[in-house]
Amino acid sequence: MSSSNSKQTPTHYDVIINGGGMVGATLACLLAQSGRKIAVIEAAEIMPFDSDGPFDLRVSAISRASQKAFEKIKAWDLMLSKRASPYEVMEVWDAEGDGKVRFDAADLGEPDLGHIIENSVTQSALAELMASEDNIVVYQPNKLKKFEVDDNGVEVILDHGEQLSADLIVGADGANSVVRQLAGIEVTVDDYAQRGLVATVKTEHHHQYTAWQRFQKTGPLAFLPLADGSCSIVWTLPSDRTDYYLSLNKTDFKQALAEAFDHKLGKITKVSDRAAFPLRGSQATPYVLERIALIGDAAHTIHPLAGQGVNLGIKDAVELANQLSSANDCGRLKTLRPYERARRGDNVITMRAMEGFRLLFGHSASPVKTVRNFGMNLFNQTPMVKNKVIKRAMGL
Ligand SMILES: Cc1cc2nc3c(=O)[nH]c(=O)nc-3n(C[C@H](O)[C@H](O)[C@H](O)COP(=O)(O)OP(=O)(O)OC[C@H]3O[C@@H](n4cnc5c(N)ncnc54)[C@H](O)[C@@H]3O)c2cc1C
Repeated sequence: MSSSNSKQTPTHYDVIINGGGMVGATLACLLAQSGRKIAVIEAAEIMPFDSDGPFDLRVSAISRASQKAFEKIKAWDLMLSKRASPYEVMEVWDAEGDGKVRFDAADLGEPDLGHIIENSVTQSALAELMASEDNIVVYQPNKLKKFEVDDNGVEVILDHGEQLSADLIVGADGANSVVRQLAGIEVTVDDYAQRGLVATVKTEHHHQYTAWQRFQKTGPLAFLPLADGSCSIVWTLPSDRTDYYLSLNKTDFKQALAEAFDHKLGKITKVSDRAAFPLRGSQATPYVLERIALIGDAAHTIHPLAGQGVNLGIKDAVELANQLSSANDCGRLKTLRPYERARRGDNVITMRAMEGFRLLFGHSASPVKTVRNFGMNLFNQTPMVKNKVIKRAMGL
């Protein structure tokens, strides 16, 4: 067996989790707290995190609800000690008008609206916790080859031939989930024909602990605050435009980016390498079968414009862990169905809301623009409604 540690490994587990990303690893730590024996299969090598190294190009806006889950498993302080930046304000504005919405943590009596955290920070903190847990065995780097379900449980075969068994297998293996495919679970995919271009940039002016987002016809451009005063950008663009911006030399890219951001933080003084990720909305149906459950991106993906993808996945992990905490047999459909009932509605509503925003801001017809800008300003001046919306986004 190739395992990240030398713990004695039982061949039978309560739960096997395929995918030790942010969502799968959180579920493993939550389940270990209730005494479950867990195996995590993770294809990627362990990536140690260096707080003095360059920023990960992949960051996530971590909500208060996710923060609470990370606190529960004692990951939060570890994450903060590695590298994180709070954001106290979120400002969203329309590139084609005067519409603007500003959310301020002070209006809610909160210290911040959330934190911008590199994915590698979260993953390395969770990897350290999993390695320190006697109830968790991590098979890494390993891949699931196949699995079979029968009345007594699930038999899993890894790529190097080792066999494991469990009451339940969880697919936490991302948007192209192998567990979902092997289980024959259907997924409806809405390809936005857009990609998210990401990079780390230094700007002339400090980010002021604000998550900035400018909505252009082609998609939103976000500047997210990082711990050293620089920003992580997520620039949603049609796929062909992404190729163009990826091909620009650094000088031309900095100029184009500053213009697209309306010089809100002055000049772009430095830019890292760039990468781009395809953006899709998707929903698996169902999330659960007898002895099989999907969580996180394996079950659903959404547009990143409100930074909710991983937060929804963490909510999935919390809900599934709650349902499994007192079950005699973790794999029974009657144990798994309440998880799907509790989570599908929230995931679908959030996905539809993101699609609504995307389409609304994609319109350039004059009447739509006028109503949109009027609506944004009206919303901005209605604190009760505004506070309700931001509290929902924070998961409060
Ligand atoms: C540009 C961009 C910006 C985003 N910004 C935000 C944000 O600000 N806030 C937010 O909440 N979300 C954001 N998201 C979404 C977020 O990144 C995802 O929702 C999140 O990464 C999903 O986590 P996951 O653990 O479910 O899946 P993944 O992160 O995809 O992890 C899956 C894990 O499974 C492993 N794996 C895959 N296949 C196998 C296999 N066969 N065997 C074993 N292991 C396997 C992988 O190595 C990986 O570790 C963003 C997404 C994009 C594209």
